[in-house]
Parts: sequence; structure tokens; C-alpha cells
Amino acid sequence: MSASSSTAQETSELVIDVEGLTKSFDGKKVVDNVDMQVAKGEIYGFLGPNGSGKTTTIRLLCGLLTPDAGHGTCLGYDILSESPRIKLEVGYMTQKFSLYEDLSIRENLDFIARIYQLDNRRDAVDATIEKLNLKARADQLAGTLSGGWKQRLALASCIMHKPKLLLLDEPTAGVDPKARREFWDEIHELADGGLTVLVSTHYMDEAERCHKICYLAYGHLLARGTADEVIAQSGLQTWTVAGHSQQRIHRLARELTRRNGVDIVAPFGTILHVSGTNGEALARAVAPYQSEQGLTWKKDAPTLEDVFILMMKKTPDNFQ
Ligand code: ADP
Repeated sequence: MSASSSTAQETSELVIDVEGLTKSFDGKKVVDNVDMQVAKGEIYGFLGPNGSGKTTTIRLLCGLLTPDAGHGTCLGYDILSESPRIKLEVGYMTQKFSLYEDLSIRENLDFIARIYQLDNRRDAVDATIEKLNLKARADQLAGTLSGGWKQRLALASCIMHKPKLLLLDEPTAGVDPKARREFWDEIHELADGGLTVLVSTHYMDEAERCHKICYLAYGHLLARGTADEVIAQSGLQTWTVAGHSQQRIHRLARELTRRNGVDIVAPFGTILHVSGTNGEALARAVAPYQSEQGLTWKKDAPTLEDVFILMMKKTPDNFQ
């Protein structure tokens, strides 16, 4: 495994260390030769289009699925032979709310505490309610909670047994921005306490809050590292252009998309990001427009979103 080249100290700090993970369904490879290393206390973001194999990878890591090929460890346990141990020390929050809607927050947590056979069940439930600020609605039926509260309850149910690794599968899908932000504050607090978090998301602001990210496209891992490293590895260069007239900006987007050297044109509000991997060709493509009155051009650093749009564009969707 790749960690064999690391020092013993580094290796012991790896909570996830897998190599060559591969999984097919019905003859279709949905996870293809994926390597992943996640260090203790890290918040590791998992990005990529729908159907790219993120959920499948998460399930391979925690022993819910067996890979067709590949090997490695999760929490120091072999993913092939020690999956029962892994399951006990992992908290897995699935995409779908899977708690009882006709039980209250407290009753749901008590139920989970029974499943894990926790000592001092009542104390564990109270402490979790306190920790995730669920007290105000502790006796409310889960089915009547808003999306943000449901998701906090789901998180509470995953951490009550004090896992060492949290696997969160699109935990904030459909949750309002304030609740999303609070959820991420909570994730950071948990990571500060030593918990390792692997979280899949489609939101760029969330990707930027991860210590490291990786991008999976149709089973293939295309990039990984810190946000800055992923941006640098892309080799993308970007010009931004702002204009007085919205209509002109819309037309400009259409014109630039057709020019050689321009790989992507992405609107961000009233500003266009015009990017390409060949800096000279890109400069030639935008040059005729730079003297146009009413347009303000600036050479800028690409954002993570620019980079992901490029990756998505370059990856053939082999499942359609
Ligand atoms: P993501 O989480 O990135 O959206 P998934 O891992 O859920 O991707 O799915 C990857 C691909 O594998 C999809 O095409 C999906 O339909 C397929 N898939 C996932 N689970 C199964 C399964 N149990 N049986 C058959 N196909 C599956």
C-alpha cells in the first residue's frame, strides 16, 4: 500500500488507508482503482457528480460492501476481514433520514443507545442532546422537525456511541444555508476533538471548509489534496470580466464559449469566469474583448468551482 513509503508515525495516524478499491454492479465498474488516505482529525471532502461512486466508496470503507479488488485498512482494521470491528467504531449518516418519524428526538436517541448497548443510556442521551443543542425540541416528534433539526438529530444519532470516524453522505442536501453553516461548525468542533470526518457534498463552500478534498468522477479519482493544491494541479488559468450591462455579459459568455483556448465560461452573479488550461491560447481568446468599453477584465486565480466545472466537462459520463 502507498503508506508503506511513509514513516511508521505517519502510517499510524492514517484512519483510512486503502488502495485499488474497485467495485462493479451488473458488470459496470462504479468504483475503479481508488486509493485514499485520510489522517486522524482530518475533515476530508468527497466531491463529484451524482452516480460517481461516492456512496459506494463510503460503503466499501465501512464494510457494508466488499470490494471486487483492492485492500487496506479503516481505523487500523482490515476492510476485507474485520468489517464488524469497523462498523462498531464508525458513525455513518446516510443520505436519507432513517430515524423514526413517530418518535421524539429523545426517544430516537434512546433507541439508538439501546442498539449500541451503551452504559448509562440516559446520561448518554442527555449528553448528546446537550452537545448538539437539541434540548428545545427534545420531546418533539422527529417527523415534525425542519430539515436542519432532522439533520442535527441524525448527526447526534451517529456520534452518541463515540465513533472514531464519521462518514457523512451528503448530510446537508436540502438544508437551508444557516443550518448548513451551523452543521459545519459542529463538524469542525468534532474534528477538533480528534474525530475524523469523511463527508460527501455538492456544495463548494462546504468543500472549502474541508482540510482536504478529493474529486471522484464516474468511479475514477481525478484529484485530491487541499483546495489550493487541487486548484494548482488543474493548471487552470482564469480571467474575470465584469460588465455594466447584464445582456452584454450573457452574450459575451456565448461568444467566448466558442473561442479556441477557452475551456469554460462560468457566470458568478454578474461576473464571468473565463478559464482555460493553455494560458497563451486563453489570453489570445480574450484579447479582442479587453479594449471593449464597459467591460472590466482582471487576471484572477481560478476558484475550486471553476476547477470542478472543468473536471466535470472533461469526464465522459460513461453511464448515460
Ligand atoms: P454517488 O454517491 O456518487 O451518487 P453511488 O455510489 O450511489 O454514487 O452510485 C454509483 C453508481 O452505482 C450509480 O450508477 C448507481 O446507480 C450504481 N449503484 C449503486 N449501488 C448499487 C447497487 N446496490 N446495485 C446496482 N447499482 C448500484
